Amino acid sequence: MKPIYLDYAATTPADPAVVQAMIPYFHDAFGNPSAIYSYGQEAKSAIEKARSAISSLIGARDEEIVFTSGGTEADNFALKGVAFANQKKGNHIITSAIEHHAVLESCKFLGKMGFKITYLPVDHFGLMNPDDVKKAITDKTILISIMHANNEIGTIQPIAGISKIAREAGVYLHTDAVQTVGHIPIDVNQLGVDLISISAHKLYGPKGVGALYIRKGTKLMTFMHGGGQERGRRASTENVPGIVGFGKAAELAKPELDIEMIRLTNLRDILITGILNKIDHTHLNGHPVKRLPNNVNISVEFVEGESMCLNMDMAGICASTGSACSSASLEASHVLLATGLDPVQAHGSLRFTLGKWTTNEEIDKVLEILPRIVTKLRAMSPLVKK
Ligand code: PLP
Repeated sequence: MKPIYLDYAATTPADPAVVQAMIPYFHDAFGNPSAIYSYGQEAKSAIEKARSAISSLIGARDEEIVFTSGGTEADNFALKGVAFANQKKGNHIITSAIEHHAVLESCKFLGKMGFKITYLPVDHFGLMNPDDVKKAITDKTILISIMHANNEIGTIQPIAGISKIAREAGVYLHTDAVQTVGHIPIDVNQLGVDLISISAHKLYGPKGVGALYIRKGTKLMTFMHGGGQERGRRASTENVPGIVGFGKAAELAKPELDIEMIRLTNLRDILITGILNKIDHTHLNGHPVKRLPNNVNISVEFVEGESMCLNMDMAGICASTGSACSSASLEASHVLLATGLDPVQAHGSLRFTLGKWTTNEEIDKVLEILPRIVTKLRAMSPLVKK
């Protein structure tokens, strides 16, 4: 039997329709989009069709979408691009303590280059307070970067509230929406942001392709110099099959979004309630309501997340104990620590992220197997006072 996959926040399987859409662009329609003959123009128009599908999903204009190699590049581009283009105006950047490493490491780098970075805290739900952003702004602030929803605990931030503050102060606002685009409704104008990072493989598209939404007029330095592709914003021959797959994924996401949100929220809540009721000494991480429809993150006391994950894997269930990137390391999650958990509690966390192919039966199976695993591990745990 195929393992039950409950790690959709790490990556999603490409939709079969996405794979089908990509296939012609590997061999038949293989042209370089910069070429003026028919093969090139065919590839070019496929890219433009994909760009329109993505801009339409987030209420943007086509020319405001720049394709990248993924969410990480989009985050790097936004942070470094704004920092270096606006350094005459100021050198201060505001972000949060719970951002993805793509943002945090970019900030660390910019810190070494002389920029000042403020890392704002979150409350025990992982939620930011827009007033903290307001208070942190100085006359040197050039950028605020706050993620739309957290990849580990699923908390959705009050971006529209933060954008009003950013606008009034004349500061650019970037949001890493890698976990939200294609999953919850997003409109760039309602959110009021200037830059948005997107990644195709989180919305049933291929890996290695993403986009940065750049609001018209935003001052951004290009850091990929070369052939002038993407209107000079990002050089390199375009990943045509990847971009086509990304476009198809965006096209599929739009009409399915509302119904899928309801279906997943329902399954998510069955899983949360089931775990909290069946296993004592457990609690939910992240916000109970302001959270992604597909995210369940639970701390289980007296056991280690890694042991639970390995045992679940042996029982045919794939889940994670933090973000995809941090689950290979044994460091406690910076996100859970920022919500006030101590390192032992943070190590005992489990993340299930649901998706398009998650069924009620799969959730029932987790609720049958997980309590048994926890009982077994607690019986052996030195953390349990006997
Ligand atoms: N930002 C967030 C919130 C993510 O969850 C991820 C991936 O886990 C990324 C950025 C990086 O995206 P990519 O894997 O496309 O580089």
